[in-house]
Amino acid sequence: MIRELVEARSGEEYELYARTINPQFMRVLRTIGFDRVWSRAQGQYLYDSEGERYLDLLGGFGMFNVGRNNPRVRAALIESLELDTPGSVQLGVSLLPGLLAEELLKRTPARLERVLFTSSGTEAVEAALKLGRAATGRSRVISTDHAFHGLTLGALSANGDPHFVERFGPLLPGFSQVPFGDLDSLERELRSEDVALFLVEPIQGKGVNLPPDGYLEGAQQLCRRHGTLFAVDEVQTGLGRTGRLFAFEHWGLEPDLVTVAKSLSGGYVPVGALLMARQVYDGVFDSLEHSVSHGSTFAPNDLAMAAGLATLRELDDANLVERSEQLGRRLLELTRPLVETHDAVKDVRGLGLMWAMEFGEPESGSLAWRMMERMQAGLFAQLVVVPLFTKHRILSQVAGHDMAVLKGLPPLVVSEDDLQEFATALDDVISKAGRPTRVAGLALRAARAR
Ligand code: PLP
Repeated sequence: MIRELVEARSGEEYELYARTINPQFMRVLRTIGFDRVWSRAQGQYLYDSEGERYLDLLGGFGMFNVGRNNPRVRAALIESLELDTPGSVQLGVSLLPGLLAEELLKRTPARLERVLFTSSGTEAVEAALKLGRAATGRSRVISTDHAFHGLTLGALSANGDPHFVERFGPLLPGFSQVPFGDLDSLERELRSEDVALFLVEPIQGKGVNLPPDGYLEGAQQLCRRHGTLFAVDEVQTGLGRTGRLFAFEHWGLEPDLVTVAKSLSGGYVPVGALLMARQVYDGVFDSLEHSVSHGSTFAPNDLAMAAGLATLRELDDANLVERSEQLGRRLLELTRPLVETHDAVKDVRGLGLMWAMEFGEPESGSLAWRMMERMQAGLFAQLVVVPLFTKHRILSQVAGHDMAVLKGLPPLVVSEDDLQEFATALDDVISKAGRPTRVAGLALRAARAR
């Protein structure tokens, strides 16, 4: 039935989506020339209806660490469908959730002893907020500026970027942000000993900001000293992305709460998880009456659990975590020289295969740059993303609102040749990005779309 539908209606994607789901988003895609009809995907590649191959450096916002349509994960899903597994009994349990929880706990510090499954990253964050409050009997939550933790109201209250928050207030009470990297500000907040949890991404997704030396270790110490739970959001950085299974391993951290989602199911099925210290579980689920203090109908479901088990095995067997570390180093080697050869490239940074290039006002030709930035902050990065896609068939993204930062989150199966191809393409598009014709072309298309 699905095959017939897809064959019969292929080509209608954009018109149908515009009519039934989100016409504004379709206008954006058309304006920037991203309105391709996609016919299939494999590993690090997408293929359009003309059979052209695109290199996917966006990776579904980081959900395809094991590669798109990974055969092992797909086989596990088919197998569990064929087994007619007895999932979601609700007043009863099946085997797969316990097996996935066991595998996750095996791979994380002994301090983490319990898992609560969810169906997305934002729900894992919501769970951390709720359970953190109940376990400590405190209500305040501290997060960092530029943080991104999801778009439901609790997670949104912890976000540090006003673009996501405007128009949706009032947010939850008790939330405040401190500058990422600033331990003094954090200590000032924690000293009052009324903070339930400090929530932090080990590397911030918006902008790909790496923590200064000693920051995360210091934050953990401060949390312990002041009775605050140390909650690390690994929704984007987890599952091999940064060259370790979890990014917190780079700094030898032992968080009380860890959120995971995105790539846990290989990108096939919605999934999320909150890993927690015994103290958190015991503080919330402290009686028979409180045995179901938090949950959601679909979490844990057997398909997500089967996909999670297959994903962890694939990460191990295909050595994807080491691969992420090695290829991440190679990507930096290939792209760092562009700082020297292009005036507008100010920084190249990353850890594992979480990579970014930051642009800034060139010494020469700063008038053109200033005009561009006046039209729209971060426009230069857009002028790189668009031709990378339309000319070089490489899908990438700008790292956040109003920022001149290009970001890459390729599937960890990406090859060295792909990275070489990306570096060569970058060199080409950056040299042309600031040219008046490029700027005018994009501005004209944007104006027509209004
Ligand atoms: N936390 C972080 C660090 C994220 O990067 C994201 C999504 O990008 C989320 C939470 C929210 O996850 P989801 O989109 O699955 O709700």
